[in-house]
Amino acid sequence: MRIVGNLLQHAPMGVLLALLAGFAFPDREPASLQHEIPPELTLVKETEHALFYVRDTDEDVSQMVDILSSYFEEHYPRITQMLKFSPPEKTTIFIYTDKNQFREMIGRDTEGTYDAGDRRIKVYTPSDLSDPDVKKEYTFQLVHEFVHAVIQQMNPVIGYIKWLDEGTAYFVANQLQDEIRSQRRFQAPIPSLEQLEQSHVYFEKAGGEAYYFSGLIVQFVYEKFGADAFNEFLRDPLAVESILGIPLSRLYDAWKEYVMDLHGKSR
Ligand SMILES: [Zn+2]
Repeated sequence: MRIVGNLLQHAPMGVLLALLAGFAFPDREPASLQHEIPPELTLVKETEHALFYVRDTDEDVSQMVDILSSYFEEHYPRITQMLKFSPPEKTTIFIYTDKNQFREMIGRDTEGTYDAGDRRIKVYTPSDLSDPDVKKEYTFQLVHEFVHAVIQQMNPVIGYIKWLDEGTAYFVANQLQDEIRSQRRFQAPIPSLEQLEQSHVYFEKAGGEAYYFSGLIVQFVYEKFGADAFNEFLRDPLAVESILGIPLSRLYDAWKEYVMDLHGKSR
């Protein structure tokens, strides 16, 4: 599975289609999900749809957990209705307030992740969210990871198509709309179709820009083709041409025009 995953992440769309045709994704064994909660994590709060565990710390985390949990519950109905899918179980969330501890546990330099292997959201969040910008960043992050949790449980294939996975998380978490308002990516180069087809490489090179443009593709599909087509597309992304009724190259051209209009540039 790991080898197939790596192949898929680096394959251009044509190769990806060929690879995925006839490849049956194995269902994960339910037993593998019955991981124990590590002893250094404590259940701090249970809400209607989530369990919030915090890595043991001397800091007061109650306010931070209240902020994250109420934001999560506030956005839960919107996200599950938009994606027409609710996870069958409560979402388990591990929160670390020490960035180094978090990175050590994850094994790479990141602040948040959804782990499809154990279906857990793992995030670093500072215990003090009193600064409005800090609060926005980490509430956005939690909901972003929750969107990954929803779409990867709905269709595990999405986890192998980086731009679709990240673009959907960025768009549905409202991070894209926030960034559009800021206009700070309006001068950034629009990626070519070839770059998007190698989206893993594009993400490594472009960083935040890649999230922005991938989010814009997802927003474009949602706005121009409607919520139903968007949901069909998420459930069978390889059938994009028949679902949207337009070849990939024309879809790309139409999207590029849409982005140039948004950025206020003449064609
Ligand atoms: Zn993400």
